[in-house]
Amino acid sequence: LVGDNLKKGIILKALSGFYYVEDLESKEMIQCRSRGLFRKQKITPLVGDEVEFLVESDGNGYVMEIGPRKNELVRPPIANVDLALVVFSVKEPDFSPKLLDRFLAVIEMNRIEPVIVLTKMDLLSEEEKQSIEPTINYYREIGYEVIETSSKRQFGLESISDLIKDRIVVICGQSGVGKSSLLNSIDHTLDIQVNEISKALGRGKHTTRHVELHKLSEGLIADTPGFSSLDLDQLEPIDLSQCFIEFYERSEQCKFRGCLHENEPRCAVKSAVEAGEIIPTRYENYLQFLTEIKTRKPKY
Ligand code: GDP
Ligand code: ZN
Repeated sequence: LVGDNLKKGIILKALSGFYYVEDLESKEMIQCRSRGLFRKQKITPLVGDEVEFLVESDGNGYVMEIGPRKNELVRPPIANVDLALVVFSVKEPDFSPKLLDRFLAVIEMNRIEPVIVLTKMDLLSEEEKQSIEPTINYYREIGYEVIETSSKRQFGLESISDLIKDRIVVICGQSGVGKSSLLNSIDHTLDIQVNEISKALGRGKHTTRHVELHKLSEGLIADTPGFSSLDLDQLEPIDLSQCFIEFYERSEQCKFRGCLHENEPRCAVKSAVEAGEIIPTRYENYLQFLTEIKTRKPKY
């Protein structure tokens, strides 16, 4: 019976029609093809999928069943993401609320939990720290976890190790914000060259585009080509308003259902901006993204 030989695993890498499955018991990596049936059903196994696979006597592996997915990212193509680390330096380059709001919107749209990681805290003077604090605290107030770190001074790192343990994690952020330094600091067995995260995590080494999960501090970190250039492609105007979590909470109090919080009368979001409950940058960024979405070219 086939069922007797089925093993459970997780797809850690997809490349050229092969799926590299980690056997949950033996921790071995098994090269598998997908069962022909999936192709007929138009189901593609994804990195991050929990699967049942079987190994034939000749050593060939086959993915036989795909477990239910908790979510599914399109770019990068990866399933069951538990957490997105949104990495921003507070200086060099300067902290950018606009880019942060863009990342958060896309991550919210995908129903993934974001955690904001601030790097290079050591570079801030007391004064600069005070000036950035209200903005940071705002994100905490609306419900986001914000972790302040410094790879140079080695603080804030344990919280991140704890967070990623046993989870599938994507990491996003502009180049130069300190992602490689951060990963090296939380897992000393890694030796990612500073500024070389893409190469270390597989990008650039291969000409073929592929997605891979890397083991790190007992968590799995995704190699995420393209994730840093996240855009709002897949969003409709009404989706955007739901991806700004503190707007969404208030939208029930707007006069109109489906209020986009632009020029509608008796808008609870606009009132909250005027009352100082929503910071101006959040609202301005929202309006700008909304315009972007409304004026984008239709896709063919
Ligand atoms: P990545 O491109 O996001 O992977 O960023 P890197 O880890 O390569 O770091 C970019 C630059 O920032 C390097 O010159 C690092 O030495 C520097 N850097 C990274 N983390 C810190 C930090 O905590 N404090 C300071 N002062 N510099 C840092
Ligand atoms: Zn409104």
